[in-house]
Amino acid sequence: MSTAGLKGINAVGHRGWVTVKCRICATKLDTTLDIVYMCPHCRDKYDAYFCAADARRLHYRCPFCGRRLELITPWIAEKRGTR
Ligand SMILES: [Zn+2]
Ligand SMILES: [Zn+2]
Repeated sequence: MSTAGLKGINAVGHRGWVTVKCRICATKLDTTLDIVYMCPHCRDKYDAYFCAADARRLHYRCPFCGRRLELITPWIAEKRGTR
């Protein structure tokens, strides 16, 4: 996987959990820029973060426990009108 084009974006240093990986497609997601869904119950155990496309494919249900996924970034979704 080439990350050459993405390097500049995350060059800020320790951003901790701000950058997460989609559990399904392994896309890097920036919780300050991208719409990110997660399962609060499986987040620690399975890194249960999901991009918007995969969340929709999962019908907003966690594939591990079946509970509803939560939007980490409601303000971004509102801005884009894709809630
Ligand atoms: Zn994904
Ligand atoms: Zn879950």
